[in-house]
Amino acid sequence: MSILVLGGAGYIGSHTVDRLIEKGYDVAVIDNLITGHRLSVNPKARFYQGDIRDRGFLETVFNQEEIDGVIHFAAFSIVPESMAEPLKYFDNNTGGMITLLEAMHAHHISNIIFSSTAATYGEPKQIPIKETDPQVPTNPYGESKLAMEKIIKWADIAYGIKYTALRYFNVAGAKADGSIGEDHNPETHLIPIILEVAQGKRDKLKIFGDDYPTKDGTNIRDYVHVVDLADAHILAIQRLLDGGDSDAFNLGSSTGFSNKEILEAARKATDMAIPAEMAPRRAGDPSTLIADSTKARQVLGWAPQYDDVEKIIKTAWTWVNSHPEGYGDH
Ligand code: UDP
Repeated sequence: MSILVLGGAGYIGSHTVDRLIEKGYDVAVIDNLITGHRLSVNPKARFYQGDIRDRGFLETVFNQEEIDGVIHFAAFSIVPESMAEPLKYFDNNTGGMITLLEAMHAHHISNIIFSSTAATYGEPKQIPIKETDPQVPTNPYGESKLAMEKIIKWADIAYGIKYTALRYFNVAGAKADGSIGEDHNPETHLIPIILEVAQGKRDKLKIFGDDYPTKDGTNIRDYVHVVDLADAHILAIQRLLDGGDSDAFNLGSSTGFSNKEILEAARKATDMAIPAEMAPRRAGDPSTLIADSTKARQVLGWAPQYDDVEKIIKTAWTWVNSHPEGYGDH
């Protein structure tokens, strides 16, 4: 089976490409390398550098490859950036999806897994969050992904393009051997920033807000290991290739950790002091996000291997210690 991975040089994409190859799939990758890293792509995958908004480029790849299914990660994903530059998010995420679906339709490719997000739920009314709960995003990133979910539903009805929207909660960690991992520039995510403090690259962690309605006042998030997340994509594409119907799934551990608890877990995982201070709230942050992932476990047969946030952080620590400058490209 031949799988095309869009955004396969990104953090989650590169781990998924790696797992697909380990499991014997034939893999082609598209990435514009704006945020991705060429070195993160398993050398057994065929690599095409280009942008999914470029229909001519997509045509070239689709003409060259015999694609059975598409896994689509090629999107911008930073909440604070989306608050400052919303149109950038609607252009690349939502606009990119439209161009991709047009190309898929023209080439009779009718299976796609794509990255959605817990941010589509906004400030949830109940915890844990179920797939059927209202989706009311509080930031343009979440809105751009919700728009993708809505557009694809109509592409399914009109053209029979079967899809699976995977709504990620917080993704962390790295391949256990530390050969691939997370490398964002600038880094905005909690766990890699904490590890930059542990590495001495930053003075201290700033915890954004301690006046939320949570047990210790800091935001609560649900962390899932990147390889477990990658495996969910492979289960999802195989399900569509086997004739499964369009659907959406939450992917999380179903356990919430406050930002202060993550800091404590990182201090244990790294055995470093990691100075921290409280800072004002960050715009667009919902108070608590915890997944109900029962549906993914039951329907996809997803069985995450990492159930301990300290172990997840340890894998990220192995990666940053073996790659102190990340991939060293940008
Ligand atoms: N956060 C923080 N300090 C930082 C970066 C993040 O306190 O330097 C908090 C952020 O406000 C949120 C949580 O960590 O409550 C997770 O943020 P991240 O950006 O990692 O993921 P998000 O939940 O926005 O997808």
